[in-house]
Amino acid sequence: MDNVVSLTRCGSYNDDVMGAVRQCIDNLGGISKFVQPNATVVLKVNAVMKCAPEKCATTNPLVVEAIGKLCKEAGAGRIIIADSAGGPFTEGYMNGIFKACGYIDIAERNGFLINSNFNTFEASLPEGKVSKNFLICDCLREADVIINVTKLKTHSFTGMSNAIKNMFGAIPGLTKVEMHGKYRTLDVFGEFLFDILDYFKDKLVLHLTDGIMGMEGPGPTNGTPRFIGAIIAGSNPVAVDVVGAKLMNYDPSTLPNIMTGVNRGYLDSNLNVTVLGEKIEDLKVCDYQTVVPNNYRPFAHTMPQWMQPIVHRLTTQRPHVNRRKCRGCKKCFEHCPVKAISMIPTKKGKLPKAKFDYNKCIRCYCCQELCPFGLVKVKSGIVYKIMHIGSNKRLKK
Ligand code: SF4
Ligand code: SF4
Repeated sequence: MDNVVSLTRCGSYNDDVMGAVRQCIDNLGGISKFVQPNATVVLKVNAVMKCAPEKCATTNPLVVEAIGKLCKEAGAGRIIIADSAGGPFTEGYMNGIFKACGYIDIAERNGFLINSNFNTFEASLPEGKVSKNFLICDCLREADVIINVTKLKTHSFTGMSNAIKNMFGAIPGLTKVEMHGKYRTLDVFGEFLFDILDYFKDKLVLHLTDGIMGMEGPGPTNGTPRFIGAIIAGSNPVAVDVVGAKLMNYDPSTLPNIMTGVNRGYLDSNLNVTVLGEKIEDLKVCDYQTVVPNNYRPFAHTMPQWMQPIVHRLTTQRPHVNRRKCRGCKKCFEHCPVKAISMIPTKKGKLPKAKFDYNKCIRCYCCQELCPFGLVKVKSGIVYKIMHIGSNKRLKK
């Protein structure tokens, strides 16, 4: 796999997004290198939840529109916008998200299709590292070409979300909850992401990042929009993520998913990437609020039982909700892969509110990602804070 990444500048979503995306792809040899006439192309977007593009949690529709138009110019037969979010993988649920994200409008404007295939398919990958069989969205299997159209942002579990992490959306709806429960630690979860990437390697030809506005702080859905001004493209997801990480002022070698990609042969151990177009230094945001990837390991039960919850609380990060503010919608409760959340009324006869069991919690942060009101925050124990002084601005809170 090559290590070439194209980087172009785009000043805002009111600017010439089409021109920036075109230039980015032209630097790689042009869209015809990736899309053949009459091909069915799936644009695999990041549609993590129902939210407006201004929140910067999802791929901006103008970037999706630009790459879709290029595919049209290359003669693609069908251009389908698809993703699977954290809820049920159904037409009703996903169309609500696509509408809020602005994808239905751009599809109508340009003759693109919105995915209507909600079947699932059991993928077989005999050489898979942690999974040899897993359920995937059938619409991706049916595509001739997949373009991973991602959003550049921080992520409380993996550190960053971009090309590598976005392909977790190939797993249908609630099956993701099951996969988080099965692959609990970040190292094993990362291997699973690369099993997915390996499965699609023949048709997943291009990764295109919307890095015009990123998200900093507690991403992937509760952070703050932050201007970066970049469009990134390449055929190697690890190389694309190395560039994205550097733009957000991460040291890419500290991000477990990137290093798993190195171990899986996607990039050399020096993380060498050939960048075409703009220079990374010219677009890098030096005071970006990054987050430390969550290398949480279930607590070793080697000390007296009474001490364990105390030490555990002091040395780890954990999800936390102000129960007075919790609206009792149960979204976190329904999606927790290890049933660490109960819905319990604060007072008799009152609405049940979310309560976390930190001995069960595996720190996947699905609850933080999916709380529609942004009420689940990440809290750090005092020992954890001391251990990470200077490496995480979020910990100062
Ligand atoms: S409580 Fe939240 S972070 Fe913990 S396992 Fe459940 S969904 Fe994941
Ligand atoms: S998702 Fe948010 S509002 Fe809904 S129950 Fe959980 S914490 Fe409360």
